[in-house]
Amino acid sequence: METINRREFVKQTVTAAAVLAVPASVLAHETPYALQFKQVALPYATNALEPNIDALTMEIHYGKHHTAYIKNVNDAIAAENITYSEKDFFANISKLSAKARNNGGGAWNHNFFWQSMKPAGGAPSGKIAEALTGAFGSMDKFKEQFTQAAMTRFGSGWAWLVKDGNTLKIGSTPNQDNPMMDVSELKGTPLLALDVWEHAYYLKYQNKRNEYVANWWNVVNWDEVAKRLN
Ligand code: MN
Repeated sequence: METINRREFVKQTVTAAAVLAVPASVLAHETPYALQFKQVALPYATNALEPNIDALTMEIHYGKHHTAYIKNVNDAIAAENITYSEKDFFANISKLSAKARNNGGGAWNHNFFWQSMKPAGGAPSGKIAEALTGAFGSMDKFKEQFTQAAMTRFGSGWAWLVKDGNTLKIGSTPNQDNPMMDVSELKGTPLLALDVWEHAYYLKYQNKRNEYVANWWNVVNWDEVAKRLN
C-alpha cells in the first residue's frame, strides 16, 4: 500500500512538473531569450516500460534529474543572456559555460530519450530496417556495435545512432554531450540515444549495465527512429 501511495504521489508530482514546464515555451516569446528548453510530457506511464525499466527509476529520472537539467539550463540562458537558437546553442556550445553545456545537453538528450522508447517496442521494419542492415550488415550486427558503444563509454554518457550526411554512424559521448555539439567527436543528426549514466539503471540493475542495455532493446520506439531518418 505504501508503495502504491508513494508512486501515486510521485506520479502526480511528475504530472505537475510537466504542466508547469509548458508556460516556459509561451513565455519564451515575451522574454529577450530566444531559447527556452521545456520538458516533454512523458509519452507513457512511468511503469509502462516495466520490467525493462522500472517505475521508480523512471519517476526519479524524469521527475528529478531531467526536471533539474531543464531548470538549470534555462537559468543559465537567462544569466548568460544567451540568444542563440537551439541549433546554434549546440553548434556554439564551446563558447558557453559548463552549466549551459551540461544542462543544455541534459535537457535535450532526455527529451529525445523518452521519445525513443515505448512499451513493447518490437522490431524495426521498412526503410529504417533496410538502412540499418545496409549500414551495419544485419540488425544483429547493428545491435552488437551499438551495445559495444554503450558498454565502452567509461563513466557517464550516452550511446548514439546518428545520420551524418548519408552515412549512419554509431558512437558515444561523455557526460551530457551530444552529437550536435561543436565539442563532440561524434557528429551528426541523432536518430537513437541510450542513457548509460548509472542513474538510468542502477536501482534495478546495479552494476550490470550489460543487462540494462540488453533489455532496453525491448522498448525502443522504432517508429520514432524511422521518422527521424526521413
Ligand atoms: Mn539520465
